[in-house]
Amino acid sequence: MAEEVLLSVRGLSKLFPLGGGLLRKPKAWIRAVEEVSFQVGRKESFGLVGESGCGKTTLGRLILRLIEPSSGSIFFSGVDLLSLDRKELRALRPRLQIIFQDPYSCLDPRMRVGEIITEPLRATTRMSRSQRRDRAVQLLEKVGLRSSDLERYPHEFSGGQRQRIGIARALAGQPELVVADEPVSALDVSIQAQVINLLLDLQEEYGLSYLFISHDLSVVEHLCDRVGVMYLGRIVELARVQEFRKSPRHPYTRSLKASVPVADPDRPWQPAPLEGDVPNPMAPPAGCSFHPRCPYAFEPCAIQRPELVEVGDSHWVACWLNQGQGILAY
Ligand code: SF4
Repeated sequence: MAEEVLLSVRGLSKLFPLGGGLLRKPKAWIRAVEEVSFQVGRKESFGLVGESGCGKTTLGRLILRLIEPSSGSIFFSGVDLLSLDRKELRALRPRLQIIFQDPYSCLDPRMRVGEIITEPLRATTRMSRSQRRDRAVQLLEKVGLRSSDLERYPHEFSGGQRQRIGIARALAGQPELVVADEPVSALDVSIQAQVINLLLDLQEEYGLSYLFISHDLSVVEHLCDRVGVMYLGRIVELARVQEFRKSPRHPYTRSLKASVPVADPDRPWQPAPLEGDVPNPMAPPAGCSFHPRCPYAFEPCAIQRPELVEVGDSHWVACWLNQGQGILAY
């Protein structure tokens, strides 16, 4: 990890109540995120991967305090984010930004591009109108659009262009951390590479840190320095990307990686080895929550949940196969 820690998340959990009301207890709780801990260094890209519903998007929103956690702590640049009141959080907001997944719905169709990009500046800075406009022109050009696009509306752009507008808006307040929530998954494959390269260029130029949320392992491996794999609300493996590529340890990570198609005509096609659905987060399985789907499950797996333990240099795994003395080969 980069030497200076920018974001530190400790034991973060989010339980959503189901049913109930003002005076009635909830019927059940959905465990969206459970005791998640990790750090992101300055200028580092940290990727969060996992299947749909694993809690990665909820985790991103918790970090931005778009939703409030049930427990845990979030420190950003040494500031306890959960202790901030609304006014303090608003003042800090430009330093912590988000790029949303869907470039079609995240831009207000009634606003011109110039207003969309300068809106965060109007709310959080004392910049004059012309200064804001200059900044918007500069950002539009930075993301590969033209200054004349300032006067146009979102519907006049393609999906890739709208995502560039979303990126320009996220950059307006000169953020230090950008949460990029599936920023390319709604785009055509040909456009995805352009947006990923743009994100890499902007990181280099502005010294950004990314929390990059994706279900696409190849994108995360290309863009990130470290990777965390989430399953049913918990991180089950954490590693540097080189280690993640070469020797993933958790059976779930291995299944995810084996599910990625390889463009090699000589390699026979193999069915995706990950079978079954993610269990119900209202009633997660006892022990290791992956055990109903795990081909390596053995006795302790259904009884006790394995903790994340360090199995190599900055490589952490929550699996009984990797605990105790030595690591079992499998
Ligand atoms: Fe599979 Fe057991 Fe490891 Fe869970 S703890 S991933 S069930 S081997």
